Amino acid sequence: MKIKSALLTLATALTVLSSSAYSKDLKIGLSIDDLRLERWQKDRDIFVKKAESMGAKVFVQSANGDDSAQISQIENMINKDIDVLVIIPHNGEVLSNVIAEAKKEGIKVLAYDRLINNAELDFYVSFDNEKVGELQAKSVVAVKPEGNYFLMGGSPVDNNAKLFRKGQMKVLDPLIKTGKIKVVGDQWVDSWLAEKALQIMENALTANKNNIDAVVASNDATAGGAIQALSAQGLSGKVAISGQDADLAAIKRIVSGSQTMTVYKPITKLADKAAQIAVQLGKNEKVESNAELNNGLKNVPAYLLDPIAVDKSNLDETIIQDGFHTKESIYQ
Ligand code: BGC
Repeated sequence: MKIKSALLTLATALTVLSSSAYSKDLKIGLSIDDLRLERWQKDRDIFVKKAESMGAKVFVQSANGDDSAQISQIENMINKDIDVLVIIPHNGEVLSNVIAEAKKEGIKVLAYDRLINNAELDFYVSFDNEKVGELQAKSVVAVKPEGNYFLMGGSPVDNNAKLFRKGQMKVLDPLIKTGKIKVVGDQWVDSWLAEKALQIMENALTANKNNIDAVVASNDATAGGAIQALSAQGLSGKVAISGQDADLAAIKRIVSGSQTMTVYKPITKLADKAAQIAVQLGKNEKVESNAELNNGLKNVPAYLLDPIAVDKSNLDETIIQDGFHTKESIYQ
């Protein structure tokens, strides 16, 4: 009898101990590739707000496109004794070692928006990125069902850029085979920078004597650079061109007719979901997944959200209705 009650007291004490361990403040490190692009500032603000509302503390750092800066920032976070590491990688190929260090310390690792290859990830949260590429190509093909196409890929070290291209080719390949579409150039834009896209588009126009009917651009920043080059040749509005992110500048270009479409990804949904997952991982709770992606090392459980194609016809019921941008900011 005595032994039984002693055991019961011990069990109660252990429960109290472990639940007090769980209620301690969770510490999350958010390592961001690049805050120079409009969308990532939104991701940061929403993620931090949501995670803090769930009682977590968040440390944020941005590497502004520099691989070694991102690695040392992550090392710093590991030294701060964080519980969960949330990474938006600049280069999805170079973080295996630093993630292995984090795992040794028992830290959970969540890849945010972009997958990290050959690394011990616990989870991946993003949009359906192949579908993004499909939406881009479909909208451009709807406007220019045949002609000379220029493909402008994103950063060659961003796994998403490859997935966007994969989705684009699902739509384009059959049309290339029948000869309706001819690909007259194909380039990738380092760090997704608009100024690089501008140069690439200038060179492509020169090489093709301005004979380009459509540009499959993978996001709004690079579309912006390309459109600058098209404008300089009097071609803006005549060449169909895609984008992604629903950046304010891109929405204004859609309204004025120089950009065909963008892909709207409701960032609030992604950032809120990511914050929830980060907290669940930190508490060792089960996380719901709806997909799985192989990163070269393992099948990573993932949660993928739906992207939405946006053009002039559905601005109101998508980005304006969601409050992503106000009507005034778009039409002023
Ligand atoms: C994101 C895009 C973004 C691009 C450049 C990609 O990984 O999915 O939304 O435009 O990076 O930052």
